[in-house]
Amino acid sequence: MSTTTVMKPDLEFIRDLKKAGGDTLKKCYQCATCSVVCNLSSKDHPFPRKQMVMSQWGMKDQLLGDPSIWMCHQCMDCTKNCPRDAKPGEVLGAVRAYAFQHFAFPAFMGKALANRNSLPVLLLIPAMVLLGVLLGGSSGDWGYLFQFTGEVELARAFPHGALEMLFIGGNLLIFAFAAVGLMRFWKGLKAFTPGKSGPGFIPAFIAAITELLTHKKFNDCEETKHRYLGHTLMFWGFIGAMATAGFAVFFTIILESMGSPFYLHSPIDLPNPIKILGVVSGIAMIWGGWILIQKRKSEDAPGVSSYSDWQFLYMIWFVGLTGMLTYILRLAGIPIVGYAVYYVHLVLVFFLLWYAPYSKFGHMFYRTLALIYAKSVAIDNPRKK
Ligand code: SF4
Ligand code: SF4
Repeated sequence: MSTTTVMKPDLEFIRDLKKAGGDTLKKCYQCATCSVVCNLSSKDHPFPRKQMVMSQWGMKDQLLGDPSIWMCHQCMDCTKNCPRDAKPGEVLGAVRAYAFQHFAFPAFMGKALANRNSLPVLLLIPAMVLLGVLLGGSSGDWGYLFQFTGEVELARAFPHGALEMLFIGGNLLIFAFAAVGLMRFWKGLKAFTPGKSGPGFIPAFIAAITELLTHKKFNDCEETKHRYLGHTLMFWGFIGAMATAGFAVFFTIILESMGSPFYLHSPIDLPNPIKILGVVSGIAMIWGGWILIQKRKSEDAPGVSSYSDWQFLYMIWFVGLTGMLTYILRLAGIPIVGYAVYYVHLVLVFFLLWYAPYSKFGHMFYRTLALIYAKSVAIDNPRKK
């Protein structure tokens, strides 16, 4: 007896993918060249050919519940070799950008981050909050901000206590919101990609984290090998910058409040290991970001970057740049510019952190979970070693 399967394509999803950078998806004629050339494609769950047809058919839930979307590292080997110019690398990037919106909680935040017209408003929120901190902390005496020479006292303009409250309070809220989206994502993975019984959660977690920290998969790309160096520098630079901020709070504020003799009055002097870590991390972020930006902009770039790619890349690069400039201006003793640059730096830092689950920054969470899932159900089995 024959059975009939009725497909109900989600037309709005197809339209959204096209808008997010996947406008070529209809060109695909299923030759599978892309799955053959992709060095990251899995033996049992090859991609991206199957995901191309799922995109054409508007199979939204199946695509969003497919971990292969996140096993793709956007190297563009497939795009370069596609005989139809269907740009499978960009289509997968568009599906990932859609996922940030789809799983967003609250939903309007996902839409706001995906819309370039919302950028001024999104920037205005941390800008106004930080302006409030600045105005509230100086008790009406703002003359020191406009000096051309002299000491740059960042903590006088933006007191540590207020920044910590914004950082800790904001992050707690954002992580709670992110957890809602990530739980939905995990549920989708289990429903649409059941897999087999694998090594279990803990070994899969360790293997996934090791793979992410070492950036092993970036080395398997052919067309965009430079991304290994650029992404590694940016990733570790950002981790180092966050660690610097954490150490600075611990050694300058917590130890001082405890009356410990090991507290640091000013962490600005170079022999100080915290400052060295900060400087090295800042240089790594600027250098890594520069490599990624230049290569993406170059005429022979194998793929096209979407708004979500550029927004994240420029934000994180400017965070590194303004952080280093603040340090230099502080050393040089130029308050008027030093405070202004530090203000911009803080606005960008809070933009990145507060909107992390809704921007491309969220790929850290989604990719990690997808990798853990794929390894735990034994479907992350690379075709090429
Ligand atoms: S995306 Fe291109 S290479 Fe891949 S199956 Fe379609 S036509 Fe072939
Ligand atoms: S962009 Fe690279 S990793 Fe992603 S599917 Fe294409 S070849 Fe594979």
